[in-house]
Amino acid sequence: MLKENDKKYIASTYARYDVEIAYGKGSLMYGYDGREFIDLTSGIGVNVFGTADPEWLEAVTSQLSKVAHTSNLYYTAPDGELARLLCEKTGMSKAFFCNSGAEANECAIKAARKYSAQTKGEEFYNIITFESSFHGRTLTTLAATGQEKFHKLFRPLTPGFFNVKNTDEIDDLVKNEKIAGIMLEVVQGEGGVNVMPEQLLSAVSELCEKNDIPLIIDEVQTGNGRTGTLYSYMRFGLKPDVFTTAKGLGGGLPIGACVLSEKLESIFAPGDNGSTFGGNPAVCAGAVSIIKRLTPAFLEDVDRKGRLLKDFFAGKKGVKSVTGLGLMIGVEPEGKAADIVKQSINDGVLALTAGGNKVRLLPPLNTPDELLLKGAEIIVRNMASA
Ligand SMILES: *Cc1c(COP(=O)(O)O)cnc(C)c1O
Repeated sequence: MLKENDKKYIASTYARYDVEIAYGKGSLMYGYDGREFIDLTSGIGVNVFGTADPEWLEAVTSQLSKVAHTSNLYYTAPDGELARLLCEKTGMSKAFFCNSGAEANECAIKAARKYSAQTKGEEFYNIITFESSFHGRTLTTLAATGQEKFHKLFRPLTPGFFNVKNTDEIDDLVKNEKIAGIMLEVVQGEGGVNVMPEQLLSAVSELCEKNDIPLIIDEVQTGNGRTGTLYSYMRFGLKPDVFTTAKGLGGGLPIGACVLSEKLESIFAPGDNGSTFGGNPAVCAGAVSIIKRLTPAFLEDVDRKGRLLKDFFAGKKGVKSVTGLGLMIGVEPEGKAADIVKQSINDGVLALTAGGNKVRLLPPLNTPDELLLKGAEIIVRNMASA
């Protein structure tokens, strides 16, 4: 029935695996057929504390029973509390809440464009992004996404985007074009778990500062403890003018955030942006419970777990390379990543793929070491025999 309804009524945008999920508990998922899976995906980096985490569930349901939704015409407590936590923990100044990563990035692009229009002129609207990046599926965030395969047959995309390979190209663009912002992922997720070289990060950061160009960091996948620091830019001491986040922030419910530094905190006036569900009280109450638990000690343990996993894969038969930070890990097999993921799912381990023939792992951040290693063991076995 599940599959029949899906095939008949769900728009065919997804190629699903042959798995019908009934429920989950922590880092384990269970199918209707009784199969058990070790979850090394957390719903693509969403379920930070696993599925049906009791503390998160309590935070959400207790808010649900008071008021689930009011609209942004009135004040509610959870969104303000979440914004306060985010700003206090990052040194940023203000947050705009929405429902997804793409929507958060749209907001960041609007902020950068308005800032540059006001300070330099309206012709300063171009945004520089990187090759192999992924910033979302709306027509503007697709334009930002530096991967041709997502653009094909959807043109014209929003104008004013340059996808670049390196800092030389950025230097040229800043000299010759009217630039309103530079946007990047510190670790490219979808594009292949590519950690940006530290030198490139500091060069871009310097260039932005020197030319008063807003630096936008997309922390949709890397954020909320995923890479072993609260946000991945913190590991490199970067100072974004805007950062965006989504996926893990809500711990399992849809939310996006565009977080503005002091420089941009007053960029928006009433009417400049909005979102009916933005700052939804139930979702924000859940997000507060997530952010509160991402303490320095917890994040250090995420980093340790990540090193444990990376060390486990490194040098094993069938493994070509291992990349990533914290519990955002890319393993490049000698065989085909897609086949290895399929086989591993058959063997009871949920894993993801990413660009560049990578097996991508984004387990819940509190997954016990034994489960991480048990899952990794099965994946590595399939890499060795592929
Ligand atoms: C997933 C992702 C997005 C898009 O987020 P949605 O919630 O699917 O709109 C944007 N940027 C990065 C880095 C992502 O990983």
